[in-house]
Order: sequence, then structure tokens, then C-alpha cells
Amino acid sequence: MSVAPEQVEGPELALSVVIPIFNEEGNIERLYRELTDTLRDIGREYEVIAINDGSRDRSYDMLNAVQARDARWHIIHFRRNFGQTAAIAAGFDAARGDIVVTMDADLQNDPRDIALVLDKFAEGYDIVSGWRQDRKESLFLRRIPSMMANRLISRSTGIKLHDYGCTLKAYSFDVVKAVKLYGELHRFIPALASQMGVRVAEVPVKDRARRWGSSKYGFSRTFKVILDLIVVVFLLSYFSRPLYVFGAAGFLVGGVGTLLGAYLTVFKLLTENKIGDRPLLQLAALLMVLGVQFISTGIVADMIMRTYHESQHKPIYYIRERRRSETVDETSEIPNTEFK
Ligand code: UDP
Ligand code: MG
Repeated sequence: MSVAPEQVEGPELALSVVIPIFNEEGNIERLYRELTDTLRDIGREYEVIAINDGSRDRSYDMLNAVQARDARWHIIHFRRNFGQTAAIAAGFDAARGDIVVTMDADLQNDPRDIALVLDKFAEGYDIVSGWRQDRKESLFLRRIPSMMANRLISRSTGIKLHDYGCTLKAYSFDVVKAVKLYGELHRFIPALASQMGVRVAEVPVKDRARRWGSSKYGFSRTFKVILDLIVVVFLLSYFSRPLYVFGAAGFLVGGVGTLLGAYLTVFKLLTENKIGDRPLLQLAALLMVLGVQFISTGIVADMIMRTYHESQHKPIYYIRERRRSETVDETSEIPNTEFK
């Protein structure tokens, strides 16, 4: 038997902290202490959602012990290792906080920096991302690839952040409930959410060396990130109407083919020359066929997107806020419409 994901209607408390955990037994105790101290100082009503992503060490028992001690902790144990993005997605599904903060369990981020992130958030942003200063990781394997990835992601998505990879980030409840994650997409949430029209800011945060254990990732992650980036760019630009992209390419290619064909026809009719052996004729035919293919691919893609949006009740718009009175007093007079 499996437990279905929890679905939450609206925020019920001020803050949720979401932490993915995979084999972090040596960090849990310290994480609990540092986080609890910080959150106590921040002084808002909070919950911590720890997702045990199929750990094979003592993390299971240790998290259960923390939960038994502190009712503000909510533990989700996965059946197996589904990856950090899945863990974050489970945390987002369960989160009840008006603001949802994500962070790693390895204490590479200082929990005290949550206060900085929340201060920035209060200025009216929907997403606030940490920007790690003075990075402790290896230059060639981590920092240079990460710098290049950040530039690339910023340029191709239009959301300029120095540090997409920093997991200390805060999101509004609406953002968390709207984004759908898979693959390694958690680092792209600010870019994905840009579709909703979010306001994004970043704040400098400390970077510390991993306290215990080692990183779960190697260099191969860089390739996954690049592949994900391609998907994200596609999702962002052409998601709701793929026909526009394929259709434009189809018109362009097919148009050139038709012009070439017309030219050859006129040429053939007006002069005595044969056109049967001209490479241009083959090119014209090829381009016309390609044009038709582009357009039909676009129509098929458009129909797939339609099914996607309609079956999942995905909105094609996002509302920042709504103002409407719940009850209208029928007896009241219509107010004077003149503005002073
Ligand atoms: N993590 C996870 N599932 C995984 C891999 C990692 O939940 O399959 C968690 C891990 O326990 C940590 C966070 O994701 O809390 C970030 O992992 P890590 O520190 O290894 O990544 P790095 O900081 O090296 O990018
Ligand atoms: Mg780490």
C-alpha cells in the first residue's frame, strides 16, 4: 500500500522549511539544533518537512526520533531513492506555510541565513534565492561548471541569478503549488516560475564546507543540468502554443521552397530550357515537403499541449491577487462615482 501525496488548499501557517535527506545520519542532530535555534529567533509559526529520500543509513530512525521529540517536524519517508528533485516536490506538496524555504541537510548553508532570505522576501518578492559567497567547493569540478551554467541559464531564461545551484531559497505558497518538477529541475524553479510573472531577488549567503559525509553528486550532474536547460528553454518559450514555433519554421521553409518552385516554373515556361536535371528543383521539392512536415508536427504538438492543459486543469494565466467583497449589501446605495 502507498500513501497518496497530501494536497493542501491554502497556507495555514507562516513558514515551511523543506529539507531533502539522503544518507545524512551524521548531520541530522546538528541540523535539528541549528535550525530550531534559528527558527525560534525568527519567531514565526513554522513546520519543518524532512523528506527521507530512501536513505540506507540510520537517517530513518534519527528522523523519527526528532519527530517524536518535536511535533513541528513532519517526516516523509520515500520507499526508495527518488532523487533530490522528487524529495523537494514531495515537500512542496505537503507544505502548508505562506513562505516555503528549501535547504540541504548537510549544513553547507547556515540556517541563520534563513532570516536574511525572509527579510528580503518581506520586501515583496515571490522567490528569493541565496547566492553563496566565498564557495568552499573545488574550483574545477564545481565552481567553474556552476559559473558557466548560471550564465547560460540566466541568459537563456531571462531570469538573472548568480547562483541557481544554491538550495537555500524561499518561495511563496502560490509558486510552490504551481510548479511541476521532474528530472533535476529543482534548480530551475525560478526560471520555470518566470512564466507565472514572479518577482525574483537574491541575497548573499555564507557557504560552509559540508559538515559530515560526502556530496551525492559528481561531475556527471553537469550534463543532466545542460539537458534540463534545453527542456526548460523550450517549456518557457513555446509551452502554451508549440504550433507558433513549428508553424513559423514551416512557413519559412515551405515559403522558400514555393518561391524556388515558382521561379523554376516561370523559367521553364518562358524559355526553352529543361529544369528536370537541376539541383534547385530537388531543393525546392525538399523545402516544400519539410514545410508541410513542420506545420503538421506543430499541429500534433499543439494538440498534445491541449490535452496536457485540459486534463491537468493547468491554467494559462496566474493571478497575483484578487479583490472582491464576499457579501454585497443589496440595500446600500450605489456610491457616488466621482473621484475626488
Ligand atoms: N539528496 C537527496 N537525494 C539524492 C541526493 C541528495 O535527497 O538522491 C539531498 C542530500 O541529502 C542533501 C541535498 O540533497 O541534503 C544536496 O545534496 P548534496 O549535498 O550531496 O549536493 P551538493 O551540495 O554537493 O550539490
Ligand atoms: Mg551539499
